[in-house]
Amino acid sequence: MNELQYKKCQEEIKLCTRLYDNFGDASIFISTVCKAAYEFFKENPVTPLPAYDKDEAEKLIRAGQSLALTPKLKTKKTVELLQSFGRVMTEVNPKLKETVKQINDQLEKFLLDEPEELTKEDIFNLRDLLIKETELEEDLATFLFSFLQYSFYRQYLQPTFEVVRTDLWEGGNCPLCGEKPHYGLLSSEDGAKQLECWSCGTKWLHTRIKCPYCDNTDMEKLGFFTVEDNEKVRVNYCQKCCQYCKTFDARKFHADGDVVLTIHNLASLDYDLLARREGFTPGSGLEWVNKDEIIETQD
Ligand SMILES: [Zn+2]
Ligand SMILES: [Zn+2]
Repeated sequence: MNELQYKKCQEEIKLCTRLYDNFGDASIFISTVCKAAYEFFKENPVTPLPAYDKDEAEKLIRAGQSLALTPKLKTKKTVELLQSFGRVMTEVNPKLKETVKQINDQLEKFLLDEPEELTKEDIFNLRDLLIKETELEEDLATFLFSFLQYSFYRQYLQPTFEVVRTDLWEGGNCPLCGEKPHYGLLSSEDGAKQLECWSCGTKWLHTRIKCPYCDNTDMEKLGFFTVEDNEKVRVNYCQKCCQYCKTFDARKFHADGDVVLTIHNLASLDYDLLARREGFTPGSGLEWVNKDEIIETQD
């Protein structure tokens, strides 16, 4: 995260506290974690990976194949970034002190016998380990780990980001890293639907009448719901695969230029809860809702 991106994030957080009713408290938390990431990368700059061969990339994209780039992360840096998140988390929310202590203990142990670099799967397993061995809740773990992956991937993949012909991509998953998206944007000009990768920030156009997860195009099985008075967010669902994805309607908040959707996503997690209570699961695989919250309403 460079200075420009950091400032844009903070502006978007401010905007989102006005746009979304339930973002107040969480916004301070998120703003602080963003700041910690910014300061971390100032001290620990990431060297981007060389760009993927342009012609080779185009060939794959035209064939409908994602480049599926999943760079390994340095174990030590990954742990240090998590520790710096932990430090600021206790400052904002002292109640997390014990949880952060448990996390740090686990991270120390983890460092002892892990390889120098971590694959995507290793990182996923680390997340699961922390949920299992500490009091870290699933929603907070999803935030910390998705933000961590986004912060690293975006920097590692920047040179490839610049050469990939996303205009040729029609798939539901990310053309660069292969992850399944969690959100998208309806453009303020013509309402065209653009999906965005939560993991590396790549954006691409996607037809509105198609499920990005199972490619279902049966209109009868596709739909969306929104909440009265806040039509900025739509929960798009597919009754064939029972998964959902959120879209933000830029026509409703008059955004011009770049919108930092990752912040809009965090500001509207109450919609994820609604989607889960309606029986849909996140097509991205990112679980933003704790299980006990889902069960609560079913009585
Ligand atoms: Zn991606
Ligand atoms: Zn589907």
